[in-house]
Amino acid sequence: MNLTTMRLDTAVDINGETQIAGVIAWPVGHSLSPPMHNAAFKHLGLNWAYAAFEVPPDRVKQAIAGLRGLQMRGLNVTIPHKAAVVEYLDEVSEIAQILDAVNTITNVEGHLTGYNTDGPGFLRAVAEVGEEVTGKRVTVIGAGGAARAVAVAVARADAEELTILNRTASRAVQLSELVTQHSPLAAVPALGLDAPEAAEAVRSADILIDCTPVGMHPHEDVPPVVPAGWLTGHQLVCDLTYNPRETVLLQAARQVGARTLDGTGMLVHQGAIAFERWTGQEAPVAIMRQALLEGLDRG
Ligand code: NAP
Repeated sequence: MNLTTMRLDTAVDINGETQIAGVIAWPVGHSLSPPMHNAAFKHLGLNWAYAAFEVPPDRVKQAIAGLRGLQMRGLNVTIPHKAAVVEYLDEVSEIAQILDAVNTITNVEGHLTGYNTDGPGFLRAVAEVGEEVTGKRVTVIGAGGAARAVAVAVARADAEELTILNRTASRAVQLSELVTQHSPLAAVPALGLDAPEAAEAVRSADILIDCTPVGMHPHEDVPPVVPAGWLTGHQLVCDLTYNPRETVLLQAARQVGARTLDGTGMLVHQGAIAFERWTGQEAPVAIMRQALLEGLDRG
């Protein structure tokens, strides 16, 4: 089967035995998770379906009670509910506790467990392009939710050095403290993007990871989060933004001969890990990626 020319049918047949999973968000917007997971269920012949639920903040408690009461098999959790769900779960994984953010809930016979698959998803995306963070000098730009997940994962995967740059320097310092508390790294330099040492922190990185929304649709034409002149050809430059796939930073990286990794890799793999936790089956990553890319193309 040629995945590049065949268009996926992600609609599922629902009957009396269909198992239900989904995502809660507010607003739910154009979530790409339903096509991605439904394509995977269909491909593996699983009688499961995945739906998106728009849940306002004052209904989070009821939503989790609904997951239990309706015996749904699992949920993804996204902005703004990742911290709010924690108090309604029976168990929360160590990483989700450290981050105070759950993006995946499993329901195993009424026992709800919260996980965070963002960091592991990022590491799998890096592995998929034949790289690894272990033993590398890594610079993370950003100190928001995505940066927290990625920085903790990178540090716990034994990066040799990690530096955090952020527009607001105090938030970089907070993230640095979190990372040093929960990883083997004894020191994690934290700098404002406007600090004199920021250019060197970018230039000397083996792996640079932009965890900011700079360059995200509809603001594709802004300057990159760091000057293009700071990038070098020996680097792997990653951008977590997935719309557009090639952000202004990745364009600049390509032009200096650096390897690049766009945000679709992390998005697919955080979903694949959730899928595996719910179903116990290996996720069909190629199918999930195709559904995601088709969803992105549709806009
Ligand atoms: P967030 O919590 O709001 O954090 C945003 C971060 O970006 C903050 O550190 C903020 O700095 C910085 N920032 C925002 N605007 C900036 C600007 N103009 N210049 C410099 N820095 C700026 O957001 P998030 O949830 O972490 O998401 C960040 C990006 O990652 C988004 O594009 C999101 O789509 C993407 N993401 C991708 C995946 C994936 O699976 N690929 C998963 C999660 C998120 P301050 O602290 O100074 O405000």
